[in-house]
Amino acid sequence: MYPVLNKLPNKSDSKPLPIVVIGNGPSGICLSYLLSGYVPYIKRGSAHPHPILQKKLEETPEVPIIDQDLEYLSEGLEGRSQSPVALLFDTLLRPDTDFGGTAESVLTWWHETNRAIPHLILGRNPPGGAWHLIEGSMITLSQGEWMGLPDLQFKDWMRKKRRGLRNNRATAEDIAQYYQHYVAKKGLQQNFICGTVVTSVRKVSPDVNFSYAQQDPERNSHSFWDFPEKDDQIASGNLFQVDGFIKNTNGCQQPFSIYAENVVLATGTYDSPSKLGVNGEDLPFVHHKLSALEEAVKNKRVGMTSDPVLIVGAGLTAADAILFAHHCNIPVIHAFRRRVNDPGLIFNQLPKMMYPEYHKVHQMMKEQSVACPGPYECYVSLPEHHVLSFTEDKKCIFQDKSGHQKVFNISMAFVLIGSNPNLSFLPNNGIDLAIDNEQPVNSKRNPINVDPFTYECVQEKGLYAVGPLAGDNFVRFVQGGALAVASSLLKKANKNPP
Ligand SMILES: Cc1cc2nc3c(=O)[nH]c(=O)nc-3n(C[C@H](O)[C@H](O)[C@H](O)COP(=O)(O)OP(=O)(O)OC[C@H]3O[C@@H](n4cnc5c(N)ncnc54)[C@H](O)[C@@H]3O)c2cc1C
Repeated sequence: MYPVLNKLPNKSDSKPLPIVVIGNGPSGICLSYLLSGYVPYIKRGSAHPHPILQKKLEETPEVPIIDQDLEYLSEGLEGRSQSPVALLFDTLLRPDTDFGGTAESVLTWWHETNRAIPHLILGRNPPGGAWHLIEGSMITLSQGEWMGLPDLQFKDWMRKKRRGLRNNRATAEDIAQYYQHYVAKKGLQQNFICGTVVTSVRKVSPDVNFSYAQQDPERNSHSFWDFPEKDDQIASGNLFQVDGFIKNTNGCQQPFSIYAENVVLATGTYDSPSKLGVNGEDLPFVHHKLSALEEAVKNKRVGMTSDPVLIVGAGLTAADAILFAHHCNIPVIHAFRRRVNDPGLIFNQLPKMMYPEYHKVHQMMKEQSVACPGPYECYVSLPEHHVLSFTEDKKCIFQDKSGHQKVFNISMAFVLIGSNPNLSFLPNNGIDLAIDNEQPVNSKRNPINVDPFTYECVQEKGLYAVGPLAGDNFVRFVQGGALAVASSLLKKANKNPP
């Protein structure tokens, strides 16, 4: 259990917090680790396989990576991320992983408590973020090792739990448990307030009135973070009011309101499933989460003899739904807008050997279309079709690429076409912060515009964004964003030494 209310200062009786992080997934956890005074140094005697990086690391071996010039260190690095700092941190943690190697990290971690910066991590679920919402039996796309956080190898944790990887990949349940374990093992619990939902983040207007009566003088005098004076903060405009509520164990909601000098958005993109925007999409048999299929099977609302379930989408979540339905012998109609051999389709990008189950789904999509029945029972694909509407008597009307309409009876529909960040707690849904500030924030097409070496929002000083919100979509790369933020905040703090 994570104690809650007593950790939240009330805005009227305390100084602003240096940092509030919204979101407790891998991004928030990694950031909390770095802000808690865990400091990365280069391991004595280690040699990074990248010769130019190794040379740079040798220049100032006594200076922690977090205090070094991240732009200089990451210059020239290449890999599977667009973010230089994400590539840097990843290659320091997993030096030769992209070449199939298992070389140990060149980092060693020291816990220097005098460098800790007070912070709170607010999140709706237990620590682990989206991984508590993803169906537990789902196997990760990434290798298990790439899901690990600094200084606690995922494979070591798995070994201790006597669990094995499948094809080098892990289940979502293992990942969620590992993240919870990480928070406990690294002693980060006191920074986490779970069961909290942030409903508003606003810049504070200069007429706000603080009472400094109930501060903890001891904490302030020893804090590494130098709290600026009230008037300076307000003059610089760098103060945020964070409002929300906490869900108590008895289900009641208790509001809270706190001030923070810096706010980090780490809310991921899994909260608002994308919609088709067609008539009947709100009918009770139409769902937008894979978990609804599993629940329906568990409660026997669908089975082998029901009308088919409709699965809409051609991404990996839709594929997981098809595999699950197939496993339960539930008939499936599978509709998607692209051609089966469209190079943009994820199945055309995954190596067959590593992902045999997704290769199987792709084969079914190709070989068992409604136009040419094939060898697979209980499955039919409708490539290049889009849904026109759902009707109350559980019919779905489709249109194919030539404009012909078809109607199918279905038992339930699962629209699994991705998800969008929910930034409704920000002014204008955070659109003003995006790269194209006329379009909604989207992790792939329109992330939040951040400085690549600090992850501070270009449009709003003191506000940071990490993870998919900043365009880093894989756990292995979200950690670089956390490093950049922590480095920036430590440098800010150092400008005002206590
Ligand atoms: C089905 C699926 C499979 C995936 N497979 C892989 C994989 O194999 N490998 C990989 O590297 N990545 C994978 N990912 C991506 C991975 O989940 C993300 O990269 C990662 O979880 C991002 O971490 P995060 O901490 O930034 O955000 P998240 O993990 O999304 O956590 C953010 C948390 O913030 C909470 N939150 C949001 N808004 C608020 C609010 N207003 N108040 C309080 N809390 C809030 C959310 O509820 C959530 O719990 C997958 C994602 C999905 C959906």
